[in-house]
Amino acid sequence: MNSARTMVLLACGALAVLAGTANAQRPGTWRCKRLLAEDGRSWREDIVVVTLLSDIVAIEPASKHEAVDRDFGDAWVIPGLIDLHTHLLLKPYDQMTWDDQVLRETTELRTLRARVHGIDTLRAGFVAIRDLGTEGAGFADVALQRAIDEGLATGPRIWTSTRAIVRRGWYGPSPDDPAVPKGAQTVEGEAEIRDAVRAQAAAGAQWIKVYADYRKQKGGAAEPTFALDELGALVDEATKAGLPVAAHATTDEGIRRAVLAGVRTIEHGGGASEATLRAMRERAVVLVPCLAANEAIVLQAGRKGPIVDSLNAAKAGLQRALAAGVTIGCGSNAGVFRHGDNARELELMVAYGMTPAQALASATTVAAGVLGAADLGVVRKGARCGLVVLGADPLLDIGALRQVRAVVREGDELWLRRDGR
Ligand SMILES: [Zn+2]
Repeated sequence: MNSARTMVLLACGALAVLAGTANAQRPGTWRCKRLLAEDGRSWREDIVVVTLLSDIVAIEPASKHEAVDRDFGDAWVIPGLIDLHTHLLLKPYDQMTWDDQVLRETTELRTLRARVHGIDTLRAGFVAIRDLGTEGAGFADVALQRAIDEGLATGPRIWTSTRAIVRRGWYGPSPDDPAVPKGAQTVEGEAEIRDAVRAQAAAGAQWIKVYADYRKQKGGAAEPTFALDELGALVDEATKAGLPVAAHATTDEGIRRAVLAGVRTIEHGGGASEATLRAMRERAVVLVPCLAANEAIVLQAGRKGPIVDSLNAAKAGLQRALAAGVTIGCGSNAGVFRHGDNARELELMVAYGMTPAQALASATTVAAGVLGAADLGVVRKGARCGLVVLGADPLLDIGALRQVRAVVREGDELWLRRDGR
């Protein structure tokens, strides 16, 4: 093991070491007894992935190699996973309410904690994330992204969205009281919408997130926030800055306006009508259903009857979208629940009717497409070397995603202590 790119770090009181197996002088060679094929539905056997720094330069039969740098043994190797909807600046709501996190915690503490959340995410096999809103922590996602890119911190590759944009008076804490700090940037009217997009782009946002609908009060029903023209202005300003838009939307009208305005993804999206789902398919808008967060919220609330109703509604929403031919992307909304449990999203996709191969695609090729990152989500020559080594076959049982033995992110393997921490 060379030490050129070795870092020692402390996380949760435990020691983990990140070490590179490749260096500038020679390629790295990684033997996979089974490697997920590019079709995402079958295994290639006895393969060696050859890397140079972070890039895959060849995929070859193991018989061509007398020795390798790393042999993963009797395992199933898949591309590094991608989560399209996380909140690294949040911790689970059953540990501290969202209001308390926004109002009572400092951005400094939340940022330090987010660093550990990033490690937990990476350990679970998620090598890249789109972080959809710092929820009151300003531009801390950009700071963390830069720290990771500079090698100061370990974590997934991050696509940032910074503060998120919502209509004034529609987002907590205390929506009606402008004196109370808010979990997103609040705006009113087209001029402020355009200003907010420009400010977030200047601060390092790579996506703009907008709340196309929301509830005005806790427990209330969601209503569309912005007029179609206003959403159009937001997408226009984002497009000028070269940024795509993700829209939180749960109501049919909120989803419909966001889709017509030109957003790239709909987050949640359970209330879409058949006509709106058709529009999503025609415009290639990807649905990110956030099933795991929905489940977590009802479980955290500890309710009895409504749990079933809410879960059934999420299940029905996903099934209607699938039947309508809408593309589904994996976004768990981790942060609402524990970072590192991101694979729960894929387990629920399969429980609700997707095949394991479809679920894996949602977190690999589909997600890479949403991010415009053709070098992620697939193991092939020319791609970044992201690998997740599993102890069981995820095409047979998606629960195998919980048996992560090793993770390689851009040519660096995350080394865990023997006790798994
Ligand atoms: Zn979210």
